[in-house]
Amino acid sequence: MSSIQQLTFVEPGKLEWWEVPAPLLRTGKDAIVRPLAVARCDLDTAVVVGSFPIAGPFGFGHEMTAEIVEVGDQVTGFAPGDRVVVPFQISCGECTNCRRGWTNACQNEVPYAAYGLGTRLEDDYGGAFSDLVRVPYADAMLLPLPEGISPEAGAGLSDNVADGYRTVDQGLREYPGEPVLIAGGLAQSVGLYAVHAAITLGSSRVVYVDFDKTRLELARAAGAEVLEISSYEAAVRHESDFLITVDASALPDGLRYAMRSTAPCGFVNGVIGGLEPTVALELPAVYRRGITYTLGRVHARSVMEHTLCHTCKGELDPMAIVDRVLPFADSIDAMLDPAPKIVFSRAAS
Ligand SMILES: [Zn+2]
Ligand SMILES: [Zn+2]
Repeated sequence: MSSIQQLTFVEPGKLEWWEVPAPLLRTGKDAIVRPLAVARCDLDTAVVVGSFPIAGPFGFGHEMTAEIVEVGDQVTGFAPGDRVVVPFQISCGECTNCRRGWTNACQNEVPYAAYGLGTRLEDDYGGAFSDLVRVPYADAMLLPLPEGISPEAGAGLSDNVADGYRTVDQGLREYPGEPVLIAGGLAQSVGLYAVHAAITLGSSRVVYVDFDKTRLELARAAGAEVLEISSYEAAVRHESDFLITVDASALPDGLRYAMRSTAPCGFVNGVIGGLEPTVALELPAVYRRGITYTLGRVHARSVMEHTLCHTCKGELDPMAIVDRVLPFADSIDAMLDPAPKIVFSRAAS
């Protein structure tokens, strides 16, 4: 195969299927994989509409499971035919940051190195909506997809499931059983996966706040106590104080709501700081309460080990919030669909 079909982000509002050269093995540590399923990341929609601006063109899609087609001669853990989860970030597994588990900041790659997000325009890593993708550092990056997990269920493990999980796991490990407040919003699936993770990890009370009825219903179905608001600005804060809060709203008012609802000495975990370049915060109040605010991209490869483990045991179900499974060919139209989560499958027709 000398050329492949690749869904290409050209510019905001413009996704196209392009024929591009097939990726080849470059080093003995590489693998070439065929994506089997791709989950739509919350960020994908923002990139397509232009509210999270990235310059194109680049291969699109980044939450994927795949089948190995070819491996380099130094790859020992995988062979052609194996099914794998591919973390969306590129990480070598050997540099200081990777060894610390900080796999979102591999020192052997360009900053933010990832599939499907245009992080290296000159020599694109490619995207998941593609016939073939090259995985550098295959042994370090890939995780086997266990028999019992479908490629469709496994795709989200590569990013949004891990992203939701890491907003609550540290807090619930240190303070077992603590109630958790999750402010939902534009990081729609991450907020809902945070609900699932908090329940899995034993929180005694998971409160999910949102203005969107579909997401509220999914959170309720997961077992959360839900609170419908008209807006975060109008709601101001929750009536209770929570030691652990999550801001998945991507809205300045949502972040302020989460901070105001955080108990003294508590922890706010942000998914994305918002889509504006600056956000006004009430820092004197944050100071008085002694609140710790954590914000940063997920370390997908490190967290995936935990979420895959919970999924294997039946404790987490990435499909629980998936609205539908569509063929790759429907990906362009479905990028702007309002459903919180959609998965695309090579096997679907
Ligand atoms: Zn993503
Ligand atoms: Zn590295």
